[in-house]
Amino acid sequence: ALVVGRRVRSRKKWKRVVGVLKELEESCETTVGRLRQVVDAMAVEMHAGLASEGGSKLKMLLTFVDNLPSGSEKGIFYALDLGGTNFRVLRVELGGQRSNVDPDVEQQPIPEQLMTGRSEDLFDFIASTLHRFVEKGNDSVQYSITKELGFTFSFPVKQTSVSSGVLIKWTKAFAIKDMVGKEVAGALQQALARKGLNMRVAVLVNDTVGTLALGHYHDADTVAAVIIGTGTNACYWERTDAIIKCQGLLTTSGGMVVNMEWGNFWSSHLPRTSYDIDLDAESPNPNDQGFEKMISGMYLGDIVRRVILRMSEESDIFGPVSSRLYVPFALRTPAMAAMHEDDSPELTEVARILQDVLDIPDVPLKARKLVVKICDVVTRRAARLAAAGIVGILKKIGRDGSGGIAGGRSRSDIKMRRTAVAVEGSLYTQYTMFREYLHEALHEILGEDIVRHVVINVTEDGSGTGAALLAASHSSSGSVQLI
Ligand code: BGC
Ligand code: MG
Repeated sequence: ALVVGRRVRSRKKWKRVVGVLKELEESCETTVGRLRQVVDAMAVEMHAGLASEGGSKLKMLLTFVDNLPSGSEKGIFYALDLGGTNFRVLRVELGGQRSNVDPDVEQQPIPEQLMTGRSEDLFDFIASTLHRFVEKGNDSVQYSITKELGFTFSFPVKQTSVSSGVLIKWTKAFAIKDMVGKEVAGALQQALARKGLNMRVAVLVNDTVGTLALGHYHDADTVAAVIIGTGTNACYWERTDAIIKCQGLLTTSGGMVVNMEWGNFWSSHLPRTSYDIDLDAESPNPNDQGFEKMISGMYLGDIVRRVILRMSEESDIFGPVSSRLYVPFALRTPAMAAMHEDDSPELTEVARILQDVLDIPDVPLKARKLVVKICDVVTRRAARLAAAGIVGILKKIGRDGSGGIAGGRSRSDIKMRRTAVAVEGSLYTQYTMFREYLHEALHEILGEDIVRHVVINVTEDGSGTGAALLAASHSSSGSVQLI
């Protein structure tokens, strides 16, 4: 009788675990209908953010980038790429003909204490790294000649010109209090001076803007760029007369790149779970970056950790509750992706990661399968929401085949132009399932007739290389040859 009793109890517990999964699946649901509502909400918020300052959670920031590199840029240019997990230094040599840009790149992880310390320490670290990099290269430009630098700074910045701007707030894992409200390029320029580097910050750009620049350099049909990495965001090319909050904005091109800061997008149509609510409440930036917290690499692993914790608390399928399960960010997204993509019959990689990363040994196969399912639900929702975001942009600029937000024409009378979107970020490039779900959702939302005209181009190091290109096209020396 004792044995039977235990079995009944364990069956009941399993039922409860399955209930937790069911509930997760339901609250993460992204039917095409719901995705279309997100598309509409995105387009509406874009309008609102362009109409007035503070008109939407979407900041729709001006970038002052009013033309994209033409291909005629010449010379040696540098770029710094700061904002994700890694910090990059780049040198690009441009020959004046649109060609494969093949930058020298050096990359290193940003020491964690620098992300939350004093701004001077962060900028000194950046300047030292750049100094070493310049010394090492055999740059033929003499020291007496000022080198032009593109600075990719992947946070919300209120630009005051193409080469200056004020930090609005930190996102992701950065939280350096003394920097908020300060001018970013100036802080870097001072650190460069402290190191004796003769360089000028020619452009200060968001990573999405760098990606758009490189994407456009290679494919002139590129109208938008999306980053899905540690954080997420998008920018796109907008007509200046649509930027209503900035009356009298005149550019020779008639347009300007707008940095949406879509990580902060919010809509009641977003499928939100109790895990999202807890994650947000316990984050350093509660009530902020809601879209980003459902999509980007910094957070997906942590959502999964929270679901496993809940299941572990409700049952004993994971044995006694591991204390690691209480540690925020103990499960990183790369480990989550590795579990998700484990195709061994016994799910040995899942078992290994549960053991090594979360300190949960001897998980039965049935429970390992459950973990894979959790990863699948969380990633699928993220990828599909990102796809809806992309279609939202296409809709705003009338490239979704519907004739724009006010358009009422039927799909068939629109001649859809080829439209390219540049994408970058580790989630998209490294996580196959994420990428596939994103593409699948694009197909579902747009339909086969339209999606045929939409091209997703992956750029490599676009955020950095693109900044070097923009430094070239905005350099003080114009196209004067320095070599
Ligand atoms: C930042 C954006 C950035 C994105 C991708 C977000 O957290 O707010 O400025 O483009 O991450 O790096
Ligand atoms: Mg990056």
